[in-house]
Amino acid sequence: MPKIVIVGGVAGGMSAAARARRLDESAEIIVLERGPHVSFANCGLPYFVGGEIEDPAKLLVQTPESLRATLALDVRPGHDVIAVDTAAKNVTVQTAYGLEVIDYDALVLAPGAAAVIPEIPGITSPRVRTLRTVDDALALRDSVRGGARRAVVLGAGFIGVEAAEALAASGLEVSIVQSSAHPLSPFEPELAWLVSQELRAIGIDVHAGTAATGIEDGAGHDTVVLTDGSRLPADMIVLSVGVRPDTATFERAGIACERGAIVVDDHGRTSMPGVWAVGDATLSVDPMTGARHPVALAGPANRAGRLVADDILRPATARAIPPALGTAIVRVGSLTAALTGANRAVLHAHGIAHTTLHLHANQHAGYFPGASPIHVVLHIDPDTGRLLGAQAVGTEGVDKRIDVLATAIRAGMAVDELIDLDLAYSPPYGQAKDAVNLTGMVGENVLNGNLSLWYAEDLDEVLATSLVLDVRRDDEWATGHVPGALHIPHTELRERIDEVRERAAGRPVRVMCASGVRSAIAHRVVTQAGMDSASLSGGTLTLRASLGERARDVLVVDAAVR
Ligand code: FAD
Repeated sequence: MPKIVIVGGVAGGMSAAARARRLDESAEIIVLERGPHVSFANCGLPYFVGGEIEDPAKLLVQTPESLRATLALDVRPGHDVIAVDTAAKNVTVQTAYGLEVIDYDALVLAPGAAAVIPEIPGITSPRVRTLRTVDDALALRDSVRGGARRAVVLGAGFIGVEAAEALAASGLEVSIVQSSAHPLSPFEPELAWLVSQELRAIGIDVHAGTAATGIEDGAGHDTVVLTDGSRLPADMIVLSVGVRPDTATFERAGIACERGAIVVDDHGRTSMPGVWAVGDATLSVDPMTGARHPVALAGPANRAGRLVADDILRPATARAIPPALGTAIVRVGSLTAALTGANRAVLHAHGIAHTTLHLHANQHAGYFPGASPIHVVLHIDPDTGRLLGAQAVGTEGVDKRIDVLATAIRAGMAVDELIDLDLAYSPPYGQAKDAVNLTGMVGENVLNGNLSLWYAEDLDEVLATSLVLDVRRDDEWATGHVPGALHIPHTELRERIDEVRERAAGRPVRVMCASGVRSAIAHRVVTQAGMDSASLSGGTLTLRASLGERARDVLVVDAAVR
């Protein structure tokens, strides 16, 4: 009868425990959890703070009692593993009653991650709280109910944005502070701009490109001081500037770690025989770039926990743990933002050649009420068309498209294969050519040379070297166009093609419209008239989002519209 000891009783640890029991009725399975709760819904904590989840009991998905009854697991909260002896095969546990030594045949480490606490003056203020545990969520909710009026959220990652949204929905004045240029830093700037705008629209004050240098204790409230000189009064401060693997105990035990993350093979085996590890504490290898870093997401932790149990009890048939793509999703007011695979900065940093596509396709048939765009950014290999990464922002249907694209990336598909995906359609749900199919069509056109693209980020160079041809309607042109552009609505282009040739005077022609659809048609007209042409990827929708605040200075607006 194997004795399996699991450290950490939430996502990865509890998945391993439950699977182990389902595989082997005879196994002795002990789960050691430092905190007071096991199997709690950490992903649900922001929604509890915001009041969407009202009953704290709903956060406790299982209890030691329910786990004993259903799975015969020996679950021990309040058990902090403080040492591991891999030679003697035992762990030392600190409990309220003293130290205990527990031996094992197989040890699974699922200790997760701990919040990064920046070393700034005032960080120990009682008004500062992380959002990692049920107790954290209860304390934050108590502050909200206790009359807190102003909240400052330090860190605009996924959890920070969720916390800010929850506090704003509870009626607080909320500021969110992010050291990188925009909130949700893995998102491309042209999509993150939409997120920033939405945060502002729901009343959240966004401070990007700045960081807290200190927290001052004042009369009845704290003041968060930022590097840009801003001073933000706060009745409560949520700290969410990142996490690090919680592995000091295991590193001390000689288990190989890299920058604090436990090194595992593709079956979750650590450097020590008989010891496996899963979840936020482990090192993951990026399937696109080979970069080695932890992926702190619930899905990969849960799935790896299950596969590790297989490897312990059925090693001959255990499947390997696939590398995580980092597929993630977050709600921001009325928007959903989601991503999978590599982003532009990562591809650039690793010298991986890529072509980027932008698309603004409706989530469902345009003629059906409530149609709204999904803003998609897709990176592909320029030679093979292999999908490297995708991101999307929109009000509806983003989850479906990112999940389809994540599946396609996992399957190693090339962009033109997206055209053939047979996706469910009826007017309230999609289009006969779904946004994913359309992305494939744009990609195929780029791969086979039917479509050449230019990018918003190259605007300054294009203005200096090329003729910009704007093919939107008169009313669209009036709302803002780039200086010096030639305006010919696309319906008039064939008759007026000589005007283009004259104005270009041998220079390349760079075509633009609102979203990239009409400019792609116009690009074909200009190319077939013998001129060097390219179409603006994503059109002015992407251009405006890329320019952000600069759009006001760069784009010329007709006096009648101003
Ligand atoms: P955890 O689930 O964190 O469990 C680790 C447990 O180990 C902890 O309970 C800890 O107390 C215990 N432990 C640590 N050291 C010891 C020790 N020495 N002895 C005993 N016990 C120990 N991910 C998503 O994919 N989507 C989301 O929407 C999402 N939202 C989130 C919202 C919040 C507020 C938080 C905090 C996280 C969220 N995550 C989300 C991340 C997700 O929860 C984690 O990636 C996932 O829980 C990691 O699983 P894990 O098993 O590695 O660690």
